Amino acid sequence: MTKIHEKPVMVTRSSMPPLEEYVEMLRSIWESAWLTNMGEYHETFKSRLEEYLGTPKLELFVNGHMGLELVLQAFELEGEVITTPFTFASTTHAIVRNGLTPVFCDINETDYTLDADRLEALVTERTCAIVPVHVYGNLCDVERIQAVADRHHLRVIYDAAHAFGEEKDGTGVGLYGDASMFSFHATKVFHSIEGGAVAFREDWLADRLYQLKNFGITGYESVEYVGANGKMNEFQAAMGLCNLRHIDSEISRRRRLAMHYRKRLGGIPGIRLCPEQPGVRYNYAYMPVVFDGYEADRDQIFEKLKEHNIFARKYFYPCVNSYACYRGKFRAEDTPVAARVAANVLTLPLYAELEPDVVDEVCDVILGFG
Ligand SMILES: *Cc1c(COP(=O)(O)O)cnc(C)c1O
Repeated sequence: MTKIHEKPVMVTRSSMPPLEEYVEMLRSIWESAWLTNMGEYHETFKSRLEEYLGTPKLELFVNGHMGLELVLQAFELEGEVITTPFTFASTTHAIVRNGLTPVFCDINETDYTLDADRLEALVTERTCAIVPVHVYGNLCDVERIQAVADRHHLRVIYDAAHAFGEEKDGTGVGLYGDASMFSFHATKVFHSIEGGAVAFREDWLADRLYQLKNFGITGYESVEYVGANGKMNEFQAAMGLCNLRHIDSEISRRRRLAMHYRKRLGGIPGIRLCPEQPGVRYNYAYMPVVFDGYEADRDQIFEKLKEHNIFARKYFYPCVNSYACYRGKFRAEDTPVAARVAANVLTLPLYAELEPDVVDEVCDVILGFG
């Protein structure tokens, strides 16, 4: 029988570097009294990340969302942006807050990314860009998305918040499309407390993104853009640098746990796991499971786990196109696959410190219905 945990098991837990390592980093901040505005750690973190992600052009931000908002602004887009409803609020909000109109494309049944088969039919003369999401670290069909974009002269900006450090056939995922946003939020596989980065292809974006995250200031006496304050501070960069030292062991520990889940839950009728895409080096950020024709439904499993003091997450539920803030603007029925996956998906606890015993307990609870 499974035991009840005294302390709740959450879906994730922020990875913490050894405290001494962070304290050591703080010393030079105290000496220089340079706390933000592209200090020394900011610059070091930026170049380390360019190396690690395999993306030679990168700009840091206070968080991933601000990076996405500002890169959309940088392209001076107007009109419609094709995107996915099966994502975090940030993706759509970034589009809408730029005065653009999201057009929701359904997702595919296999990896829950934008369905490339349905993409081109949504292109109109007002379409200016595509914003797909590498959801759960599953890579979008980047080749076919790019082909549609090329045919219609559209920008492609990836929400790569879930895809930190991932590669396809040895290429960093940040090299796809015109730009990719990575998130370093505390709940992500890699974090700088809050933080984010945008990797981009065209050189001119380096200056523009730098200016946009600093109020649009272009010189001592000139402000050419209506920018925001999106700067990453030195404490964030220091945390990022500490965590970057440990990222490979973080990912390999997560990998072992993910494999454990797969061994227990794989091949069970009614339980769907994402197949691993060939050639992809994953970061094992999430453990999504879709219950489709299983003995218990998603909500029953969620509740049962809760009784055991284990908190899985309905991530993503609901779909963005049924949010209250967008009421009356979109129809969730237009993206039926996304609606169904959102109603049946649960992301299970997964983080480096998670005990393999807890993975077994989660699986015991789930399989107890079978
Ligand atoms: C976390 C996340 C974001 C936003 O990142 P922040 O760094 O928290 O601003 C955007 N999109 C997706 C899919 C995310 O999971």
